[in-house]
This record gives sequence, C-alpha cells and structure tokens, in this order.
Amino acid sequence: MRLIAQLQDKLAALDGDHRRRRCPVLDSPQGPHVSIDGRDYLAFASNDYLGLANHPALVAAARDGALRWGVGGGASHLVAGHSTAHAALEQALADWLRLPAALLFSSGYQANLAVITALVGRGDAVFADRLNHASLNDACLLSRAEFKRFAHHDLAQLERLLAASTAPTKLIAVDAVYSMDGDCAPLAALLALAERFDAWLYVDDAHGFGVLGEGRGSVVEAGLHSERLIQMVTLGKAAGVAGAAVAAHAVVIDWLVNSARPFIFTTSTSPLLAHTVQASLRLMADEPERRAALRARMAELKHQLAGLPWTLLPSDTPIQPLLIGGNAEALAVSAGLRARGIWVPAIRPPTVPPGSARLRIALSAAHQPQDIVRLADALRELAAS
Ligand SMILES: *Cc1c(COP(=O)(O)O)cnc(C)c1O
Repeated sequence: MRLIAQLQDKLAALDGDHRRRRCPVLDSPQGPHVSIDGRDYLAFASNDYLGLANHPALVAAARDGALRWGVGGGASHLVAGHSTAHAALEQALADWLRLPAALLFSSGYQANLAVITALVGRGDAVFADRLNHASLNDACLLSRAEFKRFAHHDLAQLERLLAASTAPTKLIAVDAVYSMDGDCAPLAALLALAERFDAWLYVDDAHGFGVLGEGRGSVVEAGLHSERLIQMVTLGKAAGVAGAAVAAHAVVIDWLVNSARPFIFTTSTSPLLAHTVQASLRLMADEPERRAALRARMAELKHQLAGLPWTLLPSDTPIQPLLIGGNAEALAVSAGLRARGIWVPAIRPPTVPPGSARLRIALSAAHQPQDIVRLADALRELAAS
C-alpha cells in the first residue's frame, strides 16, 4: 500500500542517518540496576534523581491509595473527577513550592500546552530559549502567538525582541534546567526582563523540582517572588511517580481551570497517584541526605571522568552530558558501554543540535560510589580502544 510504503521510506531514511529509534523494554522497576531487553545493566538513564520510583514508602502509599480511592479518576476534574486526594496534593505542592496555588496535570507535556495556550493567543507573543524542551515549543506553536526564539541564555537578544514587540500580552518561556545540557536558566535576570517589559515568566522546572532549592525547585533556589511568575513541575522525575503541576498566583490557576483545554478536556490524573505523590513530597522534605548523595555522585563523576577525550558539559545538576560530537561515534560509545553492562543513552539530533551528539549521563541518589567508578573505567577502556 502506498501510504505504508511512504512511511517505510521515511523510516529507512532515519536508519541511514543513525536516527532510527526503538523503545528498550524494562523487565524491572526503575533504578540504578535494571533489566532491559533481557539483560542486567547498571543504568544512568532515568530522571528518577532521588531514587524514589521504586521506594518502599511510595509503593506502600500507592497500595493504600488504591484501597482508599480505587484506580481511575473516571471523569475530568471539572465534572466529577476531582477528589480530596487531588485537592490535598495541590495544596501540599503549593506550600512546598511557596507559591499561592497549584493545579495538577497528567503530564508535564500537557501542563505546558495548557498554560501557554491559556495565557497567549493570536496577536500575542512568546519568547523562548532555543534549547527549550519540545513540549514547550509545541505549546508555543499551538498557542498561535508570535513565536520568537532567542539563542540559548542570550539575554541581550531577548531584550531586543521584547523591546521590539508591540504584542498586548507577552510571555517568556524557559526550562529552569535544560534537559539535555544540565545547565540552569538565569531566572533572576529573566524575571527582571519580564518585569521591565510587563511579560509573564513561565518556568518549566521538570528537572529542578526535588533537586534544587532543598528540593523545592529552581524558583526557591533563585529566591524569586513575583505575581508574574508561573512554575511547572513534573511528578514523574525526581518525585518518582507521574504527572505534573503548575503553581502560580491563585488568579492564574483559576483562569487555567476555566480556559485551559488540556485541563478541561481530559480525565483527571489517577487519585491513587495523587495520594502517592504526597508521600514523595514527605520524603523530599524528610530526607535531605538524598540530595547530599546526589551532589557527592556529581563530584565523583567529574573527578573520575577528567582526562577522557570527551568532555562533560558544565553542569551542577544530575544531568551530566558527555559531549561526543558525531551521531555514529556517540552510538558506538553507548553500544560499547552496553556491551560492558552499562546503559547510558546516546542523545542525537533532532533532540540536540547537529554535531553535538552526546551521552546523557543521569545520576540518581540511589547510585553508589562504585557505580561511578565502574562507568569511568568502562569509558577509559573505550577511549583507549
Ligand atoms: C520531561 C519534561 C517535560 C514533560 O514532562 P512529562 O511529565 O514527562 O510529560 C517537560 N519539560 C521538560 C523540560 C522535561 O524534561
């Protein structure tokens, strides 16, 4: 059939470019040691930064949540799908993030679509860092606002774009921590620009939440307070569960409830998961040693990998990318590690700019010092071969 043949040609083109993707299949819970496609690996591949995805306290909370709430939300939040488990989690998240109010979503992707399309539309303008997450870019496009992208961290360019814009509503959107680079947005300077040009500042904190600001995320870490600031956190990464939340001024949250289509036209996130995330917030608060372990593994990794022909990008977050360059070379290093029982994904274009293929080493508080040593030894072996 012609339509199928067309897709087959496109897939073959991806193959030729070393860009064909397939899902590896896990046969174990998430963690530093996983079984993938039938083999055991030491893995540096998840965003489970605090090691909570398989934590006994969260498993127990999920079981309790199922007994108390059943499994499904069964309706959208505005119809009959909003339980006290959801309401209590929203309050707990707002308190933890030190923002007035919060709203739950089933995923960060959905939360980004919701906020940006609810706050700007045709005739308005969004200003986005070039390395923003794909979900933010999709949200900007879907909003139909004028979509202005500035070079990574280029505040001077952003300032020029803002100054030149006559849009009635402006929104600056950034990742707080860049997912493929591990570096952090200059949030204080961005907020200053937002104040000067009367724009919203939307911060996607998928990778800062649970890790930075004593676990409260990038906004608390930066010490920012502003009614124009909106923070999105995801609950499937450091929090170890699933979903996302947007925290902001109560009027912003009320507007989202009343206008954001990705909130209105979808079934509520499972109440058992909302119940479980409350347990993960308690662990974030009560066990700062998880963040201390993470910082120790980061220091060990930087120390151990010094002297390789490939360099770690500068990052003070658990995302520690090792820059390789070419797609085929990055794939070869990743495959060499895999042959040694270590799973580190190669990240290639279009996820990162051409010529900057890399290994995305993601650390977890559940990694042990000897795990870092084993990774470093394997990389040295591959560099010498
Ligand atoms: C993972 C991620 C998202 C999407 O969150 P999900 O809950 O996985 O849908 C959004 N933004 C960034 C920066 C992310 O890394």
